[in-house]
Amino acid sequence: APAFNYGEALQKSLFFYEAQRSGKLPSDNRVSWRGDSALKDGADVGLDLTGGWYDAGDHVKFGFPMAFSTTMLAWGAVDYRAGYQNSGQLPYLLGSLRWVNDYFIKAHPSANVLYGQIGKGDDDHKWWGPAEVLPMARPAYKIDASCGGSDLAGETAAAMAASSMVFRSTDAAYADKLITHAKQLYSFADTVRKAYSDCITDAQAFYKSWSGYQDELVWGAIWLYRATGDASYLAKAETEYDKLGTEPQTTTRSYKWTLAWDNKQFGAYVLLANLTGKQKYVDDANRWLDWWTVGVDGSRVNYSPGGEAVLDSWGSLRYAANTAFAALVYSDKTTDATRKARYHDFAVRQIGYALGDNPRHSSYLIGFGANPPQNPHHRTAHGSWWDSMTVPTNTRHVLYGALVGGPSSADDAYTDDRSNYVMNEVATDYNAGFTSALVRLYSEYGGSPLAGFPVAEKPDMDELTVETTVMQNEPRDTVIKAIIYNKSAFPARALTQAKFRYYVNTDGSPLVVTPGYTQGCPSPSTAHQVSGTLWYVEVDCTGYTIAPAGQSQHRMEVQFKVGVAEGGTWNPANDPSYQAATGPNRNVPLYEAGKLVWGAEP
Ligand code: BGC
Ligand code: CA
Repeated sequence: APAFNYGEALQKSLFFYEAQRSGKLPSDNRVSWRGDSALKDGADVGLDLTGGWYDAGDHVKFGFPMAFSTTMLAWGAVDYRAGYQNSGQLPYLLGSLRWVNDYFIKAHPSANVLYGQIGKGDDDHKWWGPAEVLPMARPAYKIDASCGGSDLAGETAAAMAASSMVFRSTDAAYADKLITHAKQLYSFADTVRKAYSDCITDAQAFYKSWSGYQDELVWGAIWLYRATGDASYLAKAETEYDKLGTEPQTTTRSYKWTLAWDNKQFGAYVLLANLTGKQKYVDDANRWLDWWTVGVDGSRVNYSPGGEAVLDSWGSLRYAANTAFAALVYSDKTTDATRKARYHDFAVRQIGYALGDNPRHSSYLIGFGANPPQNPHHRTAHGSWWDSMTVPTNTRHVLYGALVGGPSSADDAYTDDRSNYVMNEVATDYNAGFTSALVRLYSEYGGSPLAGFPVAEKPDMDELTVETTVMQNEPRDTVIKAIIYNKSAFPARALTQAKFRYYVNTDGSPLVVTPGYTQGCPSPSTAHQVSGTLWYVEVDCTGYTIAPAGQSQHRMEVQFKVGVAEGGTWNPANDPSYQAATGPNRNVPLYEAGKLVWGAEP
């Protein structure tokens, strides 16, 4: 019997990709706390480059890992479509693949031009707030014929080719379109023979392909072969294969690493072994997967006492999950009974570790299983209005289905700390091989996705408020300090046409309004009579942005004086908006674009 509900894990793991969406969200958006964002992406180069996925806990659109994640997700559906079909998750998988491929299409406006990054790494990373109110410029970076990118173009070709296979049976026109782009990108990659990070230099500190681009040339050709059946792509893959990396000072193909965003050659071992059955690929696949399981010549990946195979400190669970998925694909085809069981059991164990079969008896998949992480390194899920990782203390949204990095050493130790991006960041590439492993395990063991998932979140506080302070009470007037606060996160949204009204009752004489200190919005001087003795003063912040984007950005203070002229009598205590104690004041109604958003009119 399966130890875990793989159906539910699959459902949630896929959901994470919807939380990562950038751009204008579709009407069937399932993430109640996400809104439109980064709607000007590409405007700096005269293109619409909105869409795609935010990479991780940040908001850069890094094309290289985005493409790899797409290939890995699509691969799961290429080989295990029935699992998606039977679990009811196929529409969501198709939705995510279409979302990201639509972006790749826009990012590839002509044969030899591919936009490979939107947003500057450091500018993005130094700010901590929700995607919907990103304050920084987001430059678009491209590769072209003069300025390389075989790794990026090769992986994007792989992504679009693999995706075309998933769409082929339901939308042949879209599949054809993806193939056209994939072929152009592949031939560009093959011709230009340069590293994309020498061109998009901003990527160097984040996603430079240390393994070089040779692996992407093989990988892209394999996926084009699978998608088109054109034998020249297989021949191409096999020729390029012979130039793939080897272990230092040997002619043995590298095996002490794994398939991840940087290096696809391990994936090529498995795919070419399965596709051709040739012994050299079988040997390379066996050696690699043996190193991850029983060891090779006395060397093996590190194992924690609790059973995690730990390749590297940063995002250890994703390396284990990627390897698990490739091991399953290989296990399903090999005729070597010993290895078949070995690699299968390895995969079950590693995915099980992530889902809770570990010494902490805790899940590493957010919103799933026992004691899952609460504090991922994820800006939009946290929901700070203060541009601060520590405000508020609690994470405001459940980022269902995101796999965190996990233990940073082979010691089963982990701390659920938002600031720890090594153990506790989440990423589109972390979830990709993992999702595909889940659909494979679902196909074998079953499990039921949750009915009624997701439940829309309810705001954890009044997101938009006006706080008042009585600064001064004089015989004929009162000075009021009013502060609009925007702590919105459900979803986060900027106020750009905010107005509020402060209501008073006079003795019958006209209300006199005197402007005072302001942080921006004009302090008012006009009195409005409702009827009889009821008056109000309106503060109009149209044209001023009040957004949950920082300490000063999320609030706006305006002071003003209300009173009556000489001869009148003034009693603030009977004013509908009067509140002696400082605090949120519901009797000061707040409007955005003419619509009441908080509080009440008298
Ligand atoms: C970002 C992470 C990123 C890390 C390393 C942090 O500031 O929040 O998203 O992984 O820097 O670049
Ligand atoms: Ca590479």
